[in-house]
Amino acid sequence: MLLQVDNVSVAYGAVEALKRVSLAVSGAEIVAVLGANGAGKTTLLKAISGLVPVKSGAIRYNGRELHKLPAHLIARLGVVHIPEGRRVFATLTVEENLNLGGYGCPKEEVQRAKDRVFQLFPVLRERRRQLAGTLSGGEQQMLAIGRGLMRSPKLMLLDEPSLGLAPLLVDQVFATIEQINKEGVPILIVEQNARKALSIANQAHILEVGRIVLSGPARELAADARVREAYLGGAAYERRLRAKESREA
Ligand code: ATP
Repeated sequence: MLLQVDNVSVAYGAVEALKRVSLAVSGAEIVAVLGANGAGKTTLLKAISGLVPVKSGAIRYNGRELHKLPAHLIARLGVVHIPEGRRVFATLTVEENLNLGGYGCPKEEVQRAKDRVFQLFPVLRERRRQLAGTLSGGEQQMLAIGRGLMRSPKLMLLDEPSLGLAPLLVDQVFATIEQINKEGVPILIVEQNARKALSIANQAHILEVGRIVLSGPARELAADARVREAYLGGAAYERRLRAKESREA
């Protein structure tokens, strides 16, 4: 296994956000973790990338104990975290954002990575001199992913890439995620958009209030009556999404 999360618990003071969570990502697959607001999805990715401390349990990656390493060393091992809400540098151009993603890498490598990003996202090439803050939500999501690709990730952690995007753009972003995986990057994605995430994932897990309650091949979960009822109901999903967006507005 490339990544092994083993009985991991994380707490924010008295709030236990993750309770003995276990999952694994092999060298080639897309693994999805699905859950509603507050289920602990972001916390799980932050625990892996070293942004929050692990209270108990272990996270192993390529034979290294990630839960004992600081975030900058985890990033150096090729674990790239694309945070929720995109977080691009609004007052820098598209190209400057990408260059920052490749900061410290040799010039030729930066150019090669940038060419690859522009191939995946031709719209970013067209807009490379435009300020990132003037891009649409979908384009900003592409830029956030593109910036992550500048470091030649060996494992990509993606936090809700569909958030706030129109359906057509969601399709486009997910198609690119699949493409990136086909080119050899294993991906752990956390999503509220269960339908989309299950359509591209190999394995999936359902996270509810910090606990994994169901795991299996994505195809089986998509057919599971409990998953269909709780996560694939179009109306319920839309309600959760709207509630989240209005909270963040
Ligand atoms: P969302 O989709 O809303 O981002 P999520 O599934 O990613 O939700 P987390 O953000 O991981 O969930 O939050 C899990 C729990 O931990 C929630 O109860 C949340 O309120 C709590 N929490 C998250 N960050 C903090 C923090 N910095 N301090 C205290 N509690 C926190």
